[in-house]
Amino acid sequence: MKAVLLDRDGVINALIYHQDAGVIDAPFTRGQFKLLPGVPAAVRLLNDLGLRVAVVSNQPGIAKGHLKRGTLKVLERMMISGIRKGGGHVDRIYYCFHHPQAKLARLRKHCHCRKPEIGLLERAATDLDVRLTECYMVGDGIPDLLAGSRAGCRTIFIGRWKCEICQFTEAPHARPAYVARDLWEAATLIRAEMKGTAEAVSPLKCVPAQA
Ligand SMILES: [Mg+2]
Ligand SMILES: [Zn+2]
Repeated sequence: MKAVLLDRDGVINALIYHQDAGVIDAPFTRGQFKLLPGVPAAVRLLNDLGLRVAVVSNQPGIAKGHLKRGTLKVLERMMISGIRKGGGHVDRIYYCFHHPQAKLARLRKHCHCRKPEIGLLERAATDLDVRLTECYMVGDGIPDLLAGSRAGCRTIFIGRWKCEICQFTEAPHARPAYVARDLWEAATLIRAEMKGTAEAVSPLKCVPAQA
């Protein structure tokens, strides 16, 4: 394996409960952006294993009017610097800004890049000069698993906020290779697999949703 493609929200940074709208979603302000514990160390571990690391993230918040592109850039810098402080390095970052019901007309479309489509993954693999079958795709949502499996990646599900079993009954063909509690555990599973010491696959546990 040569690269790891990471979803952003729920994998790298915490999801936010937006009280006004009553939804759990991406952070929309710098005050809401918090790296999850162990993320810089996990990225560093992946770097040390010789794997390229790219972020592939659906970010429809601009299309929906939740934040401006400049704010997303600020959050991106916070992500990069937070990971760098832990000695980690992200090679590439890709976003899909589209949404089929976007408020902004120019971003309203059915695109090829919004996961579960595989456009972002294809771009990352091309730029990193690796094959998609040489990539892990790590995400906390079914669209991540679907995109990863459609693209031929090895998939790892981060189960933290959502009930895995409920999701898998909706999309049984999206079953991942591994389920990890967080990115650090995912990185250690990747290390074990690359060193040929991977033992039991993490059990699929039904974790109650938490807010
Ligand atoms: Mg996510
Ligand atoms: Zn798109």
